[in-house]
Amino acid sequence: MYKLNTLPWDNRFTTLPSDFYSYVKPRKLEGNPHWISFNKEAAKLIQLDSNEVNNPDFLDFCAGGNYPKACQPLAMLYSGHQFGHYNPQLGDGRAIMLGETQGWELQLKGSGITPYSRSGDGRAVLRSTIREYLCSEAMHYLGIPTTRALCIVGSEENVYREQIETAAMLLRMAPSHIRFGSFEIFFHRQQFDLLRQLANFVKRYYYPYVNDYLNLLTEVVQRTAKLIAQWQLVGFAHGVMNTDNMSILGLTLDYGPFGFLDNYNAHFICNHSDHQGRYAFDQQPYIGLWNLNCLAHAFLPLLDDDPNAAVEKAKSALQQYQPTFQQVWQMGLRQKLGLIHEAATDIDLMADLLVVMQDNQVDYTIFFRRLSLLKQADTSQDSILRELFLKHEDFDAWAIKYRQRLKQERQNDEQRKIAMNMVNPKYILRNYMAEQAIQQAEAGDYSEIDKLLKLLQSPFDEQKDNEHYANHPPAWASEISVSCSS
Ligand code: AMP
Ligand code: MG
Repeated sequence: MYKLNTLPWDNRFTTLPSDFYSYVKPRKLEGNPHWISFNKEAAKLIQLDSNEVNNPDFLDFCAGGNYPKACQPLAMLYSGHQFGHYNPQLGDGRAIMLGETQGWELQLKGSGITPYSRSGDGRAVLRSTIREYLCSEAMHYLGIPTTRALCIVGSEENVYREQIETAAMLLRMAPSHIRFGSFEIFFHRQQFDLLRQLANFVKRYYYPYVNDYLNLLTEVVQRTAKLIAQWQLVGFAHGVMNTDNMSILGLTLDYGPFGFLDNYNAHFICNHSDHQGRYAFDQQPYIGLWNLNCLAHAFLPLLDDDPNAAVEKAKSALQQYQPTFQQVWQMGLRQKLGLIHEAATDIDLMADLLVVMQDNQVDYTIFFRRLSLLKQADTSQDSILRELFLKHEDFDAWAIKYRQRLKQERQNDEQRKIAMNMVNPKYILRNYMAEQAIQQAEAGDYSEIDKLLKLLQSPFDEQKDNEHYANHPPAWASEISVSCSS
């Protein structure tokens, strides 16, 4: 196990020329920096001794203070399409990569201004770090690719948003934080040599099994399609799917105004500033492809010297999106329904269900978890499912089709239940849960954060003492409003 002063640093990103980043020192949190939460599971990824939490130097490191000499803190440069419009220069405006250890980049979010901060203050407020910390870990344990989170440090430093709040820092980790926008910027500046260097870097270290740029692009297309299919299956809405928030590794990246579905609503918009619903829940699969189009466009100079041939190659990569998405989504929905064999009617069965769930304001997570309790040959115990529907007969009508379909399977009720409970989580991070943890933390009590972290690390397990977290959200939950960067 390593301590802060023995961690081996290996900053591969700095082997790229300085066109890709700016060296910049974090600005330490002022006003009594203190631990808000430390995630032992993430510490294991870099073999960090959890007792380091008792080391004041380690707290200092996570608060943007002293860092080991071998760290080379830097902010990455990128651009991106934001809400459909190209923004020629973004970059890490409030995140600094401290260094890389054992294949994990350690990035401190909220660590002060960088050359890319524009008018921002480079800080992050406590509430936004708590949301990212809890959700990224929740996603990981749901089996969805994501950045991870090691810890949060809070402070008494004031930051000004709609009201005065306190600054905090989140230490997040990913094999790479390179985004679609990291490529777009060099394409739009017509710096094709730099574009090639970046692609070579990504190919060499993160996709060593691909043989050319077309293959690389195709892999990114497939990973992104798979990622978004997984979001749809679990009912996750990202909220700000700008291309600067799209990971080249197919990770869920940059948690802002995200939200999990409570009642099923295809048009769910979790970001209150997204007035057009560009990033509504049911738009995510299309936006994923739209974003990949931006990436593919940036890849054109790499794909072929002949522009027409390059376009054809880009199209061939993009054509992998829909089949990959469909395959993951369809397999996932069969699993959600507890079906092993494939039947052509399964898609309709699911589509019909989603329509009645939407009409009847049925909670997405609760429904699928309870569906595992349905008895194939006995309708007398259906009430726990029927009661979730405003019109009970809507459930009954769907259940007839579902039971017919179950007859084609060879599993018994118990086997189906076990299989379904492995894919339909009991616990998700509902907005109100994060909100409660935030309110308590703002009042100085951080225990709810740790409690939720532990809860969400086993989302598929029955947890006797935590049953209440599996209930419907309270009425006040619908009033919570979240919007972009904070
Ligand atoms: P986001 O919507 O969080 O993905 O951020 C979009 C861009 O704004 C990125 O370049 C961020 O680094 C930058 N940004 C967001 N908040 C701040 C802030 N408080 N200070 C400086 N830059 C910021
Ligand atoms: Mg971002």
